[in-house]
Amino acid sequence: MRSIAEALASMLPAFTPLGEEELHLTEASGRYLSREVTARFDSPPFDNSAMDGYAVHAADVQGAAQDEPVELLLRGESRAGGPLPSPLEPGAACRIFTGAPMPVGADAVVMQEDTEQSGDRVRIAEASPRAKHVRAQGSDVSSGATLVRPGDRLWPGELGLLASQNIDRVHVYRRPTVALLSTGDELRALGEELEPGAIVNSNVYVLTEMLRSLGVIPVALPAARDNLPEIETALRKALQADVVITMGGVSVGAYDFVHEAFANVGIEPGFWKVRIKPGKPLAFAQHEGKPVIGVPGNPISAMITFEVLVAPCLRKMLGDPRPHPQPVMARLRNSYRRRPGRVEIARAVASREGDELVVALHDRQGSGSLPSFVGINALVILPADKAELSRGEQVEAILWGPGLRSDRSAFDGMD
Ligand code: AMP
Ligand code: MG
Repeated sequence: MRSIAEALASMLPAFTPLGEEELHLTEASGRYLSREVTARFDSPPFDNSAMDGYAVHAADVQGAAQDEPVELLLRGESRAGGPLPSPLEPGAACRIFTGAPMPVGADAVVMQEDTEQSGDRVRIAEASPRAKHVRAQGSDVSSGATLVRPGDRLWPGELGLLASQNIDRVHVYRRPTVALLSTGDELRALGEELEPGAIVNSNVYVLTEMLRSLGVIPVALPAARDNLPEIETALRKALQADVVITMGGVSVGAYDFVHEAFANVGIEPGFWKVRIKPGKPLAFAQHEGKPVIGVPGNPISAMITFEVLVAPCLRKMLGDPRPHPQPVMARLRNSYRRRPGRVEIARAVASREGDELVVALHDRQGSGSLPSFVGINALVILPADKAELSRGEQVEAILWGPGLRSDRSAFDGMD
């Protein structure tokens, strides 16, 4: 049986980015870039003022002070988006506002607060050395500089930078389609009548949402019943997608037909079973190189194997150069006893307590209990060989879902 790391090492090579597409920037949010993008022009594109005040020749106001103000001639105005100011001769000042272009010749700005205007004169009561309060052309970005690299994801910051460079189209990796095939005679769609013995196919809604939030395109197929012909037909349809995920029927029960159905439609087995708890029966296979993953039907197993084993593969396929989970260190709030052997992924609530990140394990870690996932924001990784974990121990945790809670903040008590 493979460890989680071995399973990932076997799976990841089958997930390669699909190639690129060119999108308008407004359509590309959350996508991974496939090409480097360089600056089209200097930013700021021209020298401009960082303050409301007066543009001056620094040399003219060198000796200016509160008790020894320098008087300059007022010459024109420069405002953001207004007409370009005329060149400024020595001995003169130009009224200027934040973001407005500096007049040619001016090399410093004096803050409005250090000035007094009367008629066509302005008194400067503070020296302003060269370049003071001036945002120099190219000081933020110089033309040709790298803005983003392949594999960078377009978060609002990246988007803003590209927009500021008037880059309206970007090349990003294509989003894979991922077929979701549930199996089980007992499964019914949401809202359908539940006769005795039937249950709602809750996994399909959970995994659809997990796929959507990763950024891939979920394609939920109608659930297949537990018989070979039906599963095979559904699998052939599912294979039209870039990746296939089946749910359920992958264990050793008499009605677990997924392995056999894989074989019958030419899906070649890769591995079966991983030393993970919950989620041991996970299967990985390929059809002409196309990845097919069978996750267990148990709702908690399905979610956990998805997060730990499937999501990294899909992130890689989306173009993420660091697709593995990125755990943080946290202190265990409660002690925990367990049967060693498999790495256990335990549901927990993580919160900041003072300087520390603390994780409280949910007291129900059974693999069928959906209420135990409500409010969960961390999956704690309990090492395979440990039978006992004590309160206060450091563990690794994958932050998940609704985000971290904090018992305090730098904003508390701020005026
Ligand atoms: P299986 O992996 O098919 O043996 O299913 C294990 C358990 O998970 C059984 O109790 C199933 O009823 C349940 N189950 C399987 N598939 C789903 C699903 N799509 N949604 C909710 N529960 C499921
Ligand atoms: Mg089943």
